[in-house]
Amino acid sequence: MLPGLMQTTPLLISGILTYAAQAHGGREIVSKLIDEPIWRYDYAGLARRSAQLAQALKRLGVQSGDRVTSLAWNTHRHLELFYAVPGIGAVLHTANPRLFDDQIIYTINHAESGVLLFDRNFADLIERIAPHLTTVKTFVMLADDARTIPGSVGAISYETLIAEEAESLTWPSFDENAGAFLCYTSGTTGDPKGVLYSHRAVVLHAMAGGLNSAFGFTAFDVVMPCSSLYHATAWGLPFTAPLCGTKLVLPGDKMDGASLHALIQDEGVTFTGGVPTIWTMYLAWLEQTGQRPDTLKRVVIGGSAVPRAMAEAFKRLYGVSVLQIWGMTETCPLGVVATPTPALAALGEEAMDEAIWTRQGRLQFGIELKVEADDGTDAPRDGETSGALKVRGPWVVKRYFRQDQDAAQDDGWFDTGDIATLDDYGFMRITDRQKDVIKSGGEWISSIDLENFAVGCPGVKIAAVIGVPHPKWEERPLLIIEAHEGWELTKAAVLDYLAPHIVKWWTPDDVVFAPVPLTATGKIDKKVLRAAWKGHLLG
Ligand code: ADP
Repeated sequence: MLPGLMQTTPLLISGILTYAAQAHGGREIVSKLIDEPIWRYDYAGLARRSAQLAQALKRLGVQSGDRVTSLAWNTHRHLELFYAVPGIGAVLHTANPRLFDDQIIYTINHAESGVLLFDRNFADLIERIAPHLTTVKTFVMLADDARTIPGSVGAISYETLIAEEAESLTWPSFDENAGAFLCYTSGTTGDPKGVLYSHRAVVLHAMAGGLNSAFGFTAFDVVMPCSSLYHATAWGLPFTAPLCGTKLVLPGDKMDGASLHALIQDEGVTFTGGVPTIWTMYLAWLEQTGQRPDTLKRVVIGGSAVPRAMAEAFKRLYGVSVLQIWGMTETCPLGVVATPTPALAALGEEAMDEAIWTRQGRLQFGIELKVEADDGTDAPRDGETSGALKVRGPWVVKRYFRQDQDAAQDDGWFDTGDIATLDDYGFMRITDRQKDVIKSGGEWISSIDLENFAVGCPGVKIAAVIGVPHPKWEERPLLIIEAHEGWELTKAAVLDYLAPHIVKWWTPDDVVFAPVPLTATGKIDKKVLRAAWKGHLLG
């Protein structure tokens, strides 16, 4: 090999901040807070306050490699942690407040964090969990001095902590493979597992997110991440937005229709994103109030399959394009994004919409995908043959935090636990989770497809399909529906609606009406549903 003669500048997260402050310094950041007025500043301000925070953390004794935990919503202070903590070579563990107390305690102890910074409305949670935290020495409330409640843990005020520090800092340089973020999976199966994102992974992922084959931002975009900063770094938007110089709107903890709509209208939001449940609520709110999102152009949706009816409603009623994405905590999280291509456009608008709305997304440079058949061979990329979806690339997990064995194979392929197809347009379609697929008489029924059709039935808010043991067929589908308020749906009406969409043997053996539980990351909690309905008699 003849070594290249170019510079080997490490890809560090602090580089994104320094760039954004220089190139887009005056571009605004707007942050909705808990019981405080809206906060406004810009990327230059973010750089100043992140420098202050970095020095304050060092004063508290945080060193390179140490873990710091946040329990916080989408606010500018949380964003400052996103830059200051990795900026000094420490690791930010973004705890998920929607987990059970036991799991939150588990993740913080497993991370061995020394400092915990939390939003005001987690004060009660902190009181409950603090006695069980084995490594946290310092608690910081993300508030000014007047609003800080020290509680039994003696929390100090964030604003007081950073106030006296200098507003500039020469960020240290170190190996780009150093850990930066520690994100835990939601633990729907077993204990949550920690995925330790490196600087290199985060920076490459942020750059890929800005490409036209992904989010394709320009400096004129106004981006509002409604995916949580604590869940896989809100799909990297806190990094891709400053790289592209977009205005950034942080919605705090309020994701109801009225709150989101007010921000969209007041701040001119052009691009937003989050899990499907948020958009179910938002679309219902728009319908009820007759309001329209005037500036909104695109909504990126992922985390669970996007119901076709949702993508259609956004486009037909409001002229908003839906971009579906698929990814997981283990992939930083972006895997694929459903963006149009000339080959699809040539099929005509309707066919292109259909193709895009029914697939999770298209291959992105940086993430290789393959579908493996049961016998271990690669399945053909024909859009039909399904199998185990495997991924590899520079922002895919190699090994979980504090485990002895690699999670990925020696050649890098990581089994996602999803079942999917690939087609020759380069699109991937998830048909199910391996553990959720329904095995009926030796054939598979896709719970995701059934849910997707069922949610198009007027009055259905959430549709969940699980396999229930059946004396003859091994398993058969049970459809559980949570209806929109004020709707009286019947089994016959739902099955009539489904009939033209599915083959006959996919017809659910029963339809029941009940609230559908969601996980800490907003997915249908099938583990809980399976336990609750396992004795439901079919056949
Ligand atoms: P959790 O911690 O809840 O597992 P992740 O975000 O890591 O959270 O979950 C990843 C899983 O979510 C994927 O493996 C896949 O099953 C599901 N998922 C994500 N995006 C989509 C999508 N667009 N369509 C269908 N399933 C999706």
